[in-house]
Amino acid sequence: MINIDLLFLKELFLFIFIFTVSILVIVLPIILFREWIISLFRRPLFKRQLQQKKQRDGIPKEVQREVWRRDEHRCVECGSQKNLEFDHIIPISKGGSNTARNIQLLCEECNRKKSNRI
Ligand SMILES: [Zn+2]
Repeated sequence: MINIDLLFLKELFLFIFIFTVSILVIVLPIILFREWIISLFRRPLFKRQLQQKKQRDGIPKEVQREVWRRDEHRCVECGSQKNLEFDHIIPISKGGSNTARNIQLLCEECNRKKSNRI
Protein backbone atom coordinates (compact mmCIF):
# COMPACT_ATOMS: atom_id res chain seq x y z
CA MET A 1 0.00 0.00 0.00
CA ILE A 2 2.71 2.48 1.00
CA ASN A 3 4.75 1.59 -2.05
CA ILE A 4 1.88 2.36 -4.39
CA ASP A 5 1.27 5.71 -2.73
CA LEU A 6 4.91 6.67 -3.03
CA LEU A 7 4.96 5.75 -6.68
CA PHE A 8 1.86 7.85 -7.25
CA LEU A 9 3.37 10.83 -5.44
CA LYS A 10 6.54 10.53 -7.46
CA GLU A 11 4.61 10.58 -10.71
CA LEU A 12 2.47 13.46 -9.52
CA PHE A 13 5.57 15.41 -8.61
CA LEU A 14 7.17 14.64 -11.97
CA PHE A 15 4.01 15.72 -13.76
CA ILE A 16 3.83 19.02 -11.85
CA PHE A 17 7.52 19.62 -12.45
CA ILE A 18 7.29 19.08 -16.22
CA PHE A 19 4.11 21.13 -16.40
CA THR A 20 5.69 24.07 -14.55
CA VAL A 21 8.86 23.96 -16.61
CA SER A 22 7.01 23.90 -19.92
CA ILE A 23 4.84 26.84 -18.89
CA LEU A 24 7.94 28.78 -17.83
CA VAL A 25 9.63 28.02 -21.14
CA ILE A 26 6.65 29.40 -23.06
CA VAL A 27 5.70 32.31 -20.81
CA LEU A 28 9.09 33.63 -19.71
CA PRO A 29 10.37 34.69 -23.15
CA ILE A 30 7.04 36.38 -23.85
CA ILE A 31 7.31 38.38 -20.63
CA LEU A 32 10.99 39.17 -21.15
CA PHE A 33 10.75 40.19 -24.81
CA ARG A 34 7.27 41.68 -24.77
CA GLU A 35 8.47 45.28 -24.78
CA TRP A 36 10.93 44.53 -27.55
CA ILE A 37 8.33 42.78 -29.74
CA ILE A 38 5.84 45.63 -29.23
CA SER A 39 8.50 48.25 -29.99
CA LEU A 40 9.29 46.48 -33.29
CA PHE A 41 5.74 47.01 -34.51
CA ARG A 42 5.48 50.53 -33.12
CA ARG A 43 8.56 51.82 -34.91
CA PRO A 44 7.40 54.89 -36.84
CA LEU A 45 9.79 54.19 -39.71
CA PHE A 46 8.41 50.69 -40.15
CA LYS A 47 4.86 52.00 -40.05
CA ARG A 48 5.61 54.76 -42.56
CA GLN A 49 7.33 52.39 -44.99
CA LEU A 50 4.35 50.05 -44.81
CA GLN A 51 1.94 52.89 -45.44
CA GLN A 52 3.98 54.21 -48.37
CA LYS A 53 4.12 50.74 -49.89
CA LYS A 54 0.36 50.38 -49.52
CA GLN A 55 -0.21 53.76 -51.17
CA ARG A 56 2.16 53.01 -54.07
CA ASP A 57 0.64 49.61 -54.71
CA GLY A 58 -2.83 51.10 -54.76
CA ILE A 59 -2.33 53.51 -57.70
CA PRO A 60 -3.71 51.95 -60.88
CA LYS A 61 -1.34 51.83 -63.88
CA GLU A 62 -3.50 54.04 -66.08
CA VAL A 63 -3.74 56.70 -63.34
CA GLN A 64 0.07 56.60 -63.02
CA ARG A 65 0.40 57.11 -66.78
CA GLU A 66 -2.12 59.97 -66.75
CA VAL A 67 -0.35 61.78 -63.87
CA TRP A 68 3.03 61.17 -65.52
CA ARG A 69 1.77 62.81 -68.73
CA ARG A 70 -0.13 65.66 -67.03
CA ASP A 71 2.82 66.69 -64.83
CA GLU A 72 5.19 66.44 -67.85
CA HIS A 73 7.62 64.01 -66.17
CA ARG A 74 8.67 66.66 -63.64
CA CYS A 75 8.38 67.38 -59.94
CA VAL A 76 5.44 69.80 -59.62
CA GLU A 77 7.26 71.72 -56.85
CA CYS A 78 10.77 72.24 -58.20
CA GLY A 79 10.71 70.88 -61.76
CA SER A 80 13.37 68.24 -61.13
CA GLN A 81 13.29 65.13 -63.30
CA LYS A 82 15.27 62.94 -60.91
CA ASN A 83 13.91 60.40 -58.40
CA LEU A 84 10.26 61.12 -59.12
CA GLU A 85 7.59 59.61 -56.91
CA PHE A 86 3.82 59.53 -57.02
CA ASP A 87 2.45 61.56 -54.14
CA HIS A 88 -1.09 61.61 -52.78
CA ILE A 89 -2.11 65.25 -52.29
CA ILE A 90 -4.55 64.08 -49.60
CA PRO A 91 -3.08 60.90 -48.05
CA ILE A 92 -5.14 57.71 -48.30
CA SER A 93 -5.10 57.55 -44.50
CA LYS A 94 -6.90 60.92 -44.40
CA GLY A 95 -9.56 59.95 -46.90
CA GLY A 96 -7.76 60.74 -50.19
CA SER A 97 -8.45 58.61 -53.25
CA ASN A 98 -6.34 56.88 -55.90
CA THR A 99 -7.47 59.15 -58.73
CA ALA A 100 -5.32 61.37 -60.94
CA ARG A 101 -6.80 64.48 -59.32
CA ASN A 102 -5.38 63.43 -55.94
CA ILE A 103 -1.97 62.33 -57.22
CA GLN A 104 0.98 64.46 -58.28
CA LEU A 105 4.58 63.89 -59.23
CA LEU A 106 7.15 64.93 -56.65
CA CYS A 107 10.87 64.34 -56.53
CA GLU A 108 12.17 62.42 -53.54
CA GLU A 109 13.42 65.59 -51.84
CA CYS A 110 10.13 67.53 -52.12
CA ASN A 111 8.19 64.43 -51.05
CA ARG A 112 10.28 64.15 -47.85
CA LYS A 113 9.75 67.85 -47.11
CA LYS A 114 6.03 67.42 -47.61
CA SER A 115 5.73 64.34 -45.39
CA ASN A 116 7.66 66.16 -42.67
CA ARG A 117 5.08 68.91 -42.78
CA ILE A 118 2.26 66.41 -42.33
ZN1 LIG B 1 11.07 68.60 -56.28
